[in-house]
Amino acid sequence: MYRTCAFCNGKLDGDGGPSGLGVGRRLAFDEWKGRLWVICPKCSRWNLAPLDDRLEQIEALARAAGEGRVAAATEHVALIRWQTYDLVRVGKPRRMEFATWRYGERLRARRREQLKFVVPVTVAAVGLAVAVNVAAGGSLGVFVWNMPNLARMMYTGIIGRRRVSLVEPPICERCGSVLHLQAKHVAYARVVRQAQADVALILSCPTCRTEGAMLVGRDAQAALRQGLTYLALARGSRQRVEDAARLVESAGGPDRLINDVARRELTLRSLGVERRLALEMAVDERAEVEDLERHWKEAEEIAEIADGTLSSDPLLEEELERIRKKLGREPESS
Ligand SMILES: [Zn+2]
Ligand SMILES: [Zn+2]
Repeated sequence: MYRTCAFCNGKLDGDGGPSGLGVGRRLAFDEWKGRLWVICPKCSRWNLAPLDDRLEQIEALARAAGEGRVAAATEHVALIRWQTYDLVRVGKPRRMEFATWRYGERLRARRREQLKFVVPVTVAAVGLAVAVNVAAGGSLGVFVWNMPNLARMMYTGIIGRRRVSLVEPPICERCGSVLHLQAKHVAYARVVRQAQADVALILSCPTCRTEGAMLVGRDAQAALRQGLTYLALARGSRQRVEDAARLVESAGGPDRLINDVARRELTLRSLGVERRLALEMAVDERAEVEDLERHWKEAEEIAEIADGTLSSDPLLEEELERIRKKLGREPESS
C-alpha cells in the first residue's frame, strides 16, 4: 500500500489497524461493492486501496466495526469509532444502534484551543500587572488574582465577535437590513426542523430584534456550531459531558435530540446547560458524517472507474457475489 495521499501527496497516518493495510487511521469500506479506502488526514480525500487482498481486509474491518461504537450515521454512511481508529462504513444502509458516545475528546480539544489563548494572555497580563503593581506600591494584589478570569472574558469576547462565515449573508424580512452575523447573535436564534430532516435556524435580527431570517443546510450548521461554542464559553458553568451524552442517548440519537430541541421552540441561550451541550454534540456528529458522505460520493465515482478497468478477474467477481449473498441473507434489523 502507498504511504502518501494520491491527491495532495501528504503523508497518510496510522498503521491500518485491523485492515492489515499497514497504513491509515481513518478507513472507509463498502462490503457490498468490495471497496476500501484510506482517508487522508490532510485533505480528507479518499485513497482507494489496491485490489490484492481487499476482500479479507474489508471483512476484518467489518468485524472491528461490529465491536465499535456508531458515532453518527446518515442513510449511506456510518462513522464508527473503534479503539483509536475511525471506521467509515458506506453503502448499503443498516439499522444503527446508538451505543455510548465519545464526546469527551471533542470537548477537550476545544478547551485546549481555549487554553492556548488564555495562557499567553494571562502571562502577558500578569507581567504587566506586576509592573503596574510595583509602580503603585504593591496594593494591587486583587487585580493580579483576577487575571485568568479576565483573560477568559477577553477570549469569550473575541469568540463572540467572530463573524459566522455564510455563503450569502441573510436579509431581515422585517427591517430589510443585511445580517452580519456574529457568533454571539446566534444565542438568540432557535432550531427548527425542515421538511427534509435538515436543521434550520431562525435568526433574531440584531437590528430590529425580531425573528426575521432563516438559515438552512450547511449555513445553519456552521452558525449553530459557532454560536454553541460561544455559549459554552460565555455561560458554560461546569458542563457535565456524561450527563449531556446520556441526554443524547435517551433521546434516541443525535437526530432525535435535534428534533426534541426544535420542538421546545426555545432560543439557544435559554436551553439548559446539559441540553445545549447535547445539542452541540449532536450537531458536531451530524456535520462530520455529512462531510464523510460528500467525500464518499466522489470517491465512489473514482472507484467505479478504477475498479471497472482494473478488475477483469472472474474470481474477484465471484467473491463479491458471495459476499453480497451473505449480506443479503442477514436480517436488516440485526
Ligand atoms: Zn490528501
Ligand atoms: Zn431586522
